[in-house]
Amino acid sequence: MRRRDFLGSAALGTAGIVWGDRLTALASGASPFRINEPFDGAVLNRRHGKAVDGGLAILVSGVAPADARVMVCGRDAERQGETFSAEVVLREYETTITATCAGGSGRLEDRVRVVWDRHSFPRYRFSIDDNSFFLRDIHQKQYRSLFDSFYLAMLRKLHRDYGVKFSVNIYYTTADGFDLTQLSDRYKGEWRDCADWLKLAFHAHADKPDRPYEDVSPEKLIADFDQVAEQIHRFAGAQSYAPPTVIHWGMTRQESLKPLFERGVRALSGYFVKWSGRYDVNYRLDDTVSEYLSRHDCWKHFDSGIVFSRVDIVCNGTPLDQIAPTLEPLAKDPNQAEIMDLFTHEQYFWPFYANYIADHPQRLDAAIRWVTEHGYRPVFLHEGFLGAPTPSIETPTRPG
Ligand SMILES: [Zn+2]
Repeated sequence: MRRRDFLGSAALGTAGIVWGDRLTALASGASPFRINEPFDGAVLNRRHGKAVDGGLAILVSGVAPADARVMVCGRDAERQGETFSAEVVLREYETTITATCAGGSGRLEDRVRVVWDRHSFPRYRFSIDDNSFFLRDIHQKQYRSLFDSFYLAMLRKLHRDYGVKFSVNIYYTTADGFDLTQLSDRYKGEWRDCADWLKLAFHAHADKPDRPYEDVSPEKLIADFDQVAEQIHRFAGAQSYAPPTVIHWGMTRQESLKPLFERGVRALSGYFVKWSGRYDVNYRLDDTVSEYLSRHDCWKHFDSGIVFSRVDIVCNGTPLDQIAPTLEPLAKDPNQAEIMDLFTHEQYFWPFYANYIADHPQRLDAAIRWVTEHGYRPVFLHEGFLGAPTPSIETPTRPG
């Protein structure tokens, strides 16, 4: 179940409409009644309406039979042909917007639930997936300092230059004899010292097989998750641990989402891209939501409580001279301008890797410099509401 409750009430009678079934109602030839904007699960900020005292005024619109009286949140909507519209002021973290229609076929009701990102500001995060080689390298070389690792030294330089924070999503094993249990805990002090900008998170058990969680049980996913989380706590400490914001390949069963929320997951990033006619790297969300996410910053899955974020750039897949041209149009689109979800993969930094990219560090520098120069501030997506403050009074919905 994903979209919204659609409730018909009173006498739908002879039209043959099955009570509560929107598709049947449409198929029967009855006049449609629905809220089109905002989208159910939309996350709205000041770019989507106008700030009023203590709230955000947004426009609600939809379609209804031309002769019907439509109420939105208890007030008459404006009618123009088959469309209706009304202003609604959001004052809470979440708001359910209800529209009712009293027409010839009885009383109809449609609802959408939206989130007000009240304390939003332009922000970015940087996530690096598929990490394992740098930890194996630290283990093999037994460096005196973590930052004798060229990889962590590179991340630290980017942090010092721009203030960037990194979510480093790791595997349990490189599948060649190394796993996290072998990694010394003698770097704990250094992990702690950089924990304000460098967090470690579960990503998968190993790089292979591909799509490891696309169709496995929640129990298997959570077992792998816990194994990595335990090791991060052991070798780095709790302050360096973060819940994951990307699961390997961005694919899980829907039934895994609540268990992930219960493990502290609040945001998950994906591509929500259509490849060969079907959406992919989309956590198996349906086409309507995937299409929406393909052109919006984020969307809330109320069933689990998790907010999905669209990755804005994959640095290993974007040539250096295309970094700025990829980000520029996003910053001009109100639906995609607020949160820049920057992203890449570890393996492309390593010369022994078949698809090594020599200018990979420069690509990160270019992306991070661009967002910095355009006023975006670094955040972790797992903190607050996608990195923006959420006062405790505004408690996000917990899954039921
Ligand atoms: Zn991955």
